Amino acid sequence: MPHKIVLIGRPNVGKSTLFNTLIGERKALVERTPGVTRDRLYGEAEIEGRKVTVIDTGGLTPEVEELFSHEILRQAEEALAEADLVLFLVDARTGLTPLDERIAELLRKKEKPVLLVINKVDSKKEVLNLGEFYALGFEPLLPISAKHKKGLENLRKEILAHL
Ligand code: GDP
Ligand code: MG
Repeated sequence: MPHKIVLIGRPNVGKSTLFNTLIGERKALVERTPGVTRDRLYGEAEIEGRKVTVIDTGGLTPEVEELFSHEILRQAEEALAEADLVLFLVDARTGLTPLDERIAELLRKKEKPVLLVINKVDSKKEVLNLGEFYALGFEPLLPISAKHKKGLENLRKEILAHL
């Protein structure tokens, strides 16, 4: 069984963008759980020859999800149960939010390894604002731009180190 990497983070941080970047051209499998408002997406990725399963959580529009932070936390907890490694995504452009802090709190209570991935670091401008994310209590900070495919080599290296 390949290792399972779960993408966790509040809506709009770029989980699905990173998911698509990691799985590339491969197809994702949708698992629709009855009564659950967020579908889970399973994709296969290969990191330096190692097969891993990447799991994206999401499905509602960010607007709708903002109204249901308790539901997001519940889904994060559910996805965590099957994770070997968590990629906890935050957004450098909006900065730290209360929901990020609540997710971090949930993750700190678990024994799962967590990589704190700061997305939307498209340029040096965003690098200047990364310091506040140390407050979440996860190190190192891994700045990436999922959209512009920056920082991904370093992220892949860190993922491999945790498998
Ligand atoms: P999710 O709700 O966490 O799955 O987030 P999405 O992957 O749907 O992305 C939310 C928005 O952020 C979309 O408009 C993306 O194009 C945008 N986005 C994702 N990654 C980046 C990035 O690295 N830089 C910038 N500037 N925008 C990004
Ligand atoms: Mg999404």
